[in-house]
Amino acid sequence: MRNTLRFCLVSYSILLLLSASAYAQPSAATQRLQERNKMFKPQVIQVADNVYTAIGYQVTANSMIVGDDGVIIVDPGQMAILASRVRKAFEEITDKPIKAIIYTHGHGDHYNGAPAFYEEGKGIQVWARSNFGSEGTRNATTGLVGGVRSSNTQGFDLKPEQKMGVGVAIPPERRPTNSMMVDGSSQSGPPRRAQRIEPTHTFSEDRKRIEVAGVTIDLVSAPGETEDQLYLWLPKQKVVFAGDNFYQSWPNVYPLRGTARRSIRDWIVSVDKMIQEDPLHLVGGHTTPMLENANEVLTNYRDAMKHVYDKTIEGAQKYMTPDELVEYAALPPRLAKLDYLAPYYGSVEGTIRDIYAQDLGWFDGDALNLHRESPKKQSQRMADLVGGVSALMAKAREAMAADDPLGAAQLAQHVIRLRPENKGAKRLMGEALAIIGEGTFNAPMRNYTISTSNRYLAEANEE
Ligand SMILES: [Zn+2]
Repeated sequence: MRNTLRFCLVSYSILLLLSASAYAQPSAATQRLQERNKMFKPQVIQVADNVYTAIGYQVTANSMIVGDDGVIIVDPGQMAILASRVRKAFEEITDKPIKAIIYTHGHGDHYNGAPAFYEEGKGIQVWARSNFGSEGTRNATTGLVGGVRSSNTQGFDLKPEQKMGVGVAIPPERRPTNSMMVDGSSQSGPPRRAQRIEPTHTFSEDRKRIEVAGVTIDLVSAPGETEDQLYLWLPKQKVVFAGDNFYQSWPNVYPLRGTARRSIRDWIVSVDKMIQEDPLHLVGGHTTPMLENANEVLTNYRDAMKHVYDKTIEGAQKYMTPDELVEYAALPPRLAKLDYLAPYYGSVEGTIRDIYAQDLGWFDGDALNLHRESPKKQSQRMADLVGGVSALMAKAREAMAADDPLGAAQLAQHVIRLRPENKGAKRLMGEALAIIGEGTFNAPMRNYTISTSNRYLAEANEE
């Protein structure tokens, strides 16, 4: 009788434990991303007189400027089928015909929606800079961008409950074609599935003033996230359309998918140019527009990028390694607390490493790194130190039990290198990475980590 009771109590507490873990609170990181995703419910926001921005219909922000006898579209978006819904929403505001389309830069998620707005033979002007598409062309030269790194970053192969988006846009449900943000593919070469609308008008000067439908627009060259970036300036309404040189996140100076290098120095100069216009309103390439304090926001954005750049260089001059610089060059609390500088998409740490890599290359100044052992040799040394591979595996499990998933993953990696057939090590690695990923707030880093976790768990479960 007493035994039965004890058995019942034990079973009951196991049940409680199981249900507690099944319904464990999402991490603070997960909750913050869930909160952020509320920004992307489809809506059209009035930015200023005759200026409207559509958010949440596509991964990019798409805008309409209403003129006397027609409208101008800024960044038609990622896909014609989605862009046609934006057109419909805009047509509820005005039925004036489209006179011009402006591409802020050559990422497919900003311009592939053009067929939804463009009609042949209507004299619609399509504007971009003369080096439009330069990043895609450079990436195509190596053929390295895209593939697994890209889909891990965007989280395409994650389970539905693991998909938390990319931090600056709605989580894409499927892989649209021809989208740099989405699949990292090259934009050069002939069109694939989507009909590509080429620019009909380009400019190579620093600033080009155009008049369309009675609206005065300055198109200003602004290399930053891409070399072909421009911003639009509406002097009358004091609106600046920043393209991807601004969205509400730490800037994506280094995308994890890998890409042609992005110059943070050029980027700082371009943000500074926008500040000199003294704007009131700011429309970014993704996320909702900043309806007031545009100048203050851009000033903080520029100061934050400049701080990270200057401190990285200063520390590098003191022979600090990138691992040391990520602490040394971090944002000061005044800037770190601003939500539009939080690392939803780009990461401060990744930026610091990228500045170092761009300016100093792979060598971090540590003489030992000129004489590296192979990964397998390093792992063997670690195993010998603790008394063999089984002891190493036991240490990995101990770390996991002590709530140290990063320690567990690092130790499990040594075991996997030495015993690639060890499924227990792969399972432990997968479980550790799942916890690390779920606790990571930068969406690309999170997606990449959880995608890798899924791969290890699948390998551990293979017959
Ligand atoms: Zn973009």
